[in-house]
Amino acid sequence: MEFKICENCNMIFQYIGHGEVICPACVQKDDEDCEKIKDFLIENPNAREEEISKGTRISLKSIEKLIKANKIVVKGTNATALTCNMCGISIPSGRYCADCKRKFAMDPGSTGRSGGGMRFIRR
Ligand SMILES: [Zn+2]
Ligand SMILES: [Zn+2]
Repeated sequence: MEFKICENCNMIFQYIGHGEVICPACVQKDDEDCEKIKDFLIENPNAREEEISKGTRISLKSIEKLIKANKIVVKGTNATALTCNMCGISIPSGRYCADCKRKFAMDPGSTGRSGGGMRFIRR
C-alpha cells in the first residue's frame, strides 16, 4: 500500500499503482468535467478553450489536461496542433489520422508485404 499526493488537488490518497497520480475524487471530477465539456461543445462546436472554461466553469488547466489525455477534442485551439505520425495531415486527437488507423487495422504487419522491404511515406 502506498500513499501519494494527488497532482490535481494535493490531497494525500491511497495510490493503487497505475497511471497518473490522481486521487479517486479527481478521477471522478475529470469524468464529470468531460461530460460538461462535451455537452458544451455540442452547442458550441467551435468554442476555444477559454470559452469552454467560461461556459463550463472548468479551469483552463483541467481542460488542457483532458485534451492532452484525448478525452475531449477541441476544434478551436492552437495548443494541440497534432499531425498524423504516418502521413502528416492535421488531426484533432491521437497520433494517427482515421485513414492511417484504418490501414493499420487492415494490415497490422505493414512491412514487407509487397516484398519490397521498408517503405517510407513522405510529404
Ligand atoms: Zn485529487
Ligand atoms: Zn495519416
